Amino acid sequence: MTFGSKVTVIEMMDRIVPAMDAEVSKNLRLILERKGMTILTDTKLQEIIEEDGKLRIKVEGKDDIIASKALLSIGRVPDLEGIGEVEFELDRGRIKVNEYMETSVPGIYAPGDINGTKMLAHAAFRMGEVAAENALKGNHAVAKLNLTPAAIYTLPEVAAVGLTEEQAREKYDVAIGKFNFAANGRAIASDAAQGFVKVIADKKYGEILGVHIIGPAAAELINEASSIIEMEITVEEMLKTIHGHPTYSEVMYEAFADVLGMAIHSPKKK
Ligand SMILES: Cc1cc2nc3c(=O)[nH]c(=O)nc-3n(C[C@H](O)[C@H](O)[C@H](O)COP(=O)(O)OP(=O)(O)OC[C@H]3O[C@@H](n4cnc5c(N)ncnc54)[C@H](O)[C@@H]3O)c2cc1C
Repeated sequence: MTFGSKVTVIEMMDRIVPAMDAEVSKNLRLILERKGMTILTDTKLQEIIEEDGKLRIKVEGKDDIIASKALLSIGRVPDLEGIGEVEFELDRGRIKVNEYMETSVPGIYAPGDINGTKMLAHAAFRMGEVAAENALKGNHAVAKLNLTPAAIYTLPEVAAVGLTEEQAREKYDVAIGKFNFAANGRAIASDAAQGFVKVIADKKYGEILGVHIIGPAAAELINEASSIIEMEITVEEMLKTIHGHPTYSEVMYEAFADVLGMAIHSPKKK
């Protein structure tokens, strides 16, 4: 699309990037459609047929799509052929591990994609560290995989850590803070003033439950949020930090301030 191709996204769920916060998903769709992408949600891919050097893409209940390329990006399955005779306890085809990354066979550890908990490179790296430490020194180290940041390298980028608003509301009385890149100096100067940072906090204690970003450098900015959540820094504590100007990170600061209705570059909350 950015390089001049006509792009159609086919998604079975009712929204794109369904694992992300619903508001982020809605905003990304809007931005991509404005750029000219066709997005079909609630649409099931049925078949891809090669035909006269092109691909006929059959979808349920809609006209066929004729394309020159198809990029299939659904699901990965473990290949356990290499494990030989060892009988591990499995969970939906993946090697089951405990919090120490140890399998049902004492002394054998299975960090990474093979256990299917978080199939991301940085999560695998941390799981590997934990497994190695436990294998050498006895089981004691754990990886907080629920705090693994995730990023999608669209234009603009999308990134998240922790709970979505929907998930947080199931358990907590939440306060939401949001700040748009449209009111950020660096984003305006860089012609990248799209998207927002959204902070989900527990109203009672100010604990940060989740941070969601759509906008420039989202995949970079999310790591600040990961550190904040891991260190159990509250909204009030975060607001004592000084963020450089002009930076995209100021949007993060202002979104935290907005949790308390204190973002100075936002209209006052009623
Ligand atoms: C197309 C694609 C894009 C991705 N993009 C991202 C991304 O942007 N960000 C991100 O965080 N993650 C991304 N991932 C996921 C990421 O690659 C994995 O989560 C990560 O590589 C998992 O690391 P791992 O060490 O568990 O497994 P792997 O990286 O798969 O390493 C397993 C290794 O074991 C070797 N092996 C397998 N069987 C045997 C055997 N019998 N004997 C010896 N060796 C064996 C394999 O050859 C391989 O080298 C992507 C994955 C794919 C497929």
